[in-house]
Amino acid sequence: MIAIPGEKVGVIEAFEPEGEYKLVDGNIVATVLSNVVIDKKEKKVRIQPVKKGTIKEGDIVIGRVEYIQRPFAFVSIISALNKDISTDIKGMIYINPEEEYPPVLEGSIIRARVAKLSAGALILTVDDENLGVIESYCNFCGGPLTRRGKNTAKCSWCGRVLNVKLAPDFRTKVPSYRVILE
Ligand SMILES: [Zn+2]
Repeated sequence: MIAIPGEKVGVIEAFEPEGEYKLVDGNIVATVLSNVVIDKKEKKVRIQPVKKGTIKEGDIVIGRVEYIQRPFAFVSIISALNKDISTDIKGMIYINPEEEYPPVLEGSIIRARVAKLSAGALILTVDDENLGVIESYCNFCGGPLTRRGKNTAKCSWCGRVLNVKLAPDFRTKVPSYRVILE
């Protein structure tokens, strides 16, 4: 069985606990998300932390581009497919200095692949047919972007055309309100 943190998994008189737990008034209580195995014969209860999935090279991840500081775009990983990940995982996309436009926009949600793991950092790429920006607002005015070409999107507020690597399922996201600057 799986125990959540704080869940009572047995009483100390009945079972000898092993693993990660704390005792509260004679109760054996899980401290982290744990697998609990009760051995009735041995009268033991084993409480083992559930291991987080680790992200490997080649994994597809969904992330938010926090900011761009050439030659890197810094990305917070929101999810990795089929994996339970800890919340604070960061990745980076290398931007070729010869490219005039970064492949992603600040604030955009992207689908990327882990190209390599380097000194604990995830190096991501969007350089593949089904990778790239999934949704984004205009970087200049916050307006909604609509796909114009394979890798161009136009802002329907300010009219700018942005060059960006769009995922095939890129979708227009309409802001909830418009702020008019004088
Ligand atoms: Zn705009």
